[in-house]
Amino acid sequence: MLKSFENVVIGGGLAGLIATNLLAKEGKQVLLIEKKTYPFHRVCGEYISNEVKGFLKREGLFPEAHELPQIDRFTFSDTKGSQTTVPLDLGGFGLSRYVFDDFLVHKGVEKGAEIYTGIQVEQIEFQNDQFILQLSDGSELQAKNVIGAFGKRSKLDKVLARDFIQKRSPYIGVKYHIKAAIDRKAVALHNFSGGYCGINAIEDGKANLCYLGSRDQLRTYGSIPEMEEAILWKNPHLKELFTSSEFLFEKPEVINEINFEAKKPVENHILMAGDSAGLITPLCGNGMAMAIQAGKLAAEAILTNKTRPEIEQSYEKNWRRIFETRLKVGRTVQLLFGSDFSSIFARNLIQHVPFVTRKIIKNTHGQPF
Ligand SMILES: Cc1cc2nc3c(=O)[nH]c(=O)nc-3n(C[C@H](O)[C@H](O)[C@H](O)COP(=O)(O)OP(=O)(O)OC[C@H]3O[C@@H](n4cnc5c(N)ncnc54)[C@H](O)[C@@H]3O)c2cc1C
Repeated sequence: MLKSFENVVIGGGLAGLIATNLLAKEGKQVLLIEKKTYPFHRVCGEYISNEVKGFLKREGLFPEAHELPQIDRFTFSDTKGSQTTVPLDLGGFGLSRYVFDDFLVHKGVEKGAEIYTGIQVEQIEFQNDQFILQLSDGSELQAKNVIGAFGKRSKLDKVLARDFIQKRSPYIGVKYHIKAAIDRKAVALHNFSGGYCGINAIEDGKANLCYLGSRDQLRTYGSIPEMEEAILWKNPHLKELFTSSEFLFEKPEVINEINFEAKKPVENHILMAGDSAGLITPLCGNGMAMAIQAGKLAAEAILTNKTRPEIEQSYEKNWRRIFETRLKVGRTVQLLFGSDFSSIFARNLIQHVPFVTRKIIKNTHGQPF
């Protein structure tokens, strides 16, 4: 007989961990399946918009034990290094995913959630109003509801033949933790030809340095250090950071094929949450807040105990209302980056037309919930 679960969450990033916590809190049977083993590092800028703070605190999901840098300004430099700083109305805080995800998984276990780690979901089928999942350890299980929180790109996207997976993406992501003399109250975005690099403080006096770069440039220069020296260091702020900071990882975390194409929030009856439903461009700095809110929406939809079509419809409606415009604006704003001309234009805009900057930030960020 197949092992059977009421709710299965695939992927234990922020979307999956929040959904798991909320379902378990209401006494629901929930299994979270994460292919990696906690704690682990991920490519992510680790600046979290304050729109999630009230929710996390109310749910007891804010890691109070850590003293977290509070970030209230945004510094932007163009490819030549000219820089400007503006206040961030809502602001945010810095926290590594290594700490945050591990904290949330422990909270889920405390509430009674079952967690499989180091196991991947290989196949998923929907038949007779149930999901059948095949796992990488050879086992199979059955689930009534499935939340797909498997991130930007997963084996399951191929299994489900999702449209975006056919398209190649020119972007790579690279991340380090460093110790550096930076403004710990600012999130900085330094442009370079073909991409941009974010820097902000995180816990324990450390900082996150994470950039979105180009696969073609990596191919041209042959290695990450050579590409960084040839391309990123042309921006004097990045040269200073790379040459005077202490790098805490032996080697960077790297991902490729970062795709910003639109995706569907419900596919094959799976409620897609977080990056599985669409990744916002990192320069908007709120993909994590969106993943947290989407995890909450997916759990809330299931908790209504309505029929499957009603759950799917209400989740999709709410998801589109809250996230669809933000994702579109994020894709458009991304066009302002990656070349000398566009980054200088963007810097001038931020410096001299603060009204427009505020509007862009407002349209790519949500409200506290
Ligand atoms: C370069 C870069 C910088 C960024 N910087 C920021 C930032 O500063 N601030 C911000 O708010 N956002 C940022 N983001 C966006 C943010 O990282 C994501 O939006 C957020 O992590 C999404 O969370 P998630 O839970 O949807 O996915 P993830 O955190 O990616 O989690 C998905 C999980 O699913 C697991 N998984 C995948 N397939 C399977 C499977 N078949 N079976 C089991 N498990 C599976 C993966 O191992 C992973 O742990 C950045 C993104 C990039 C690319």
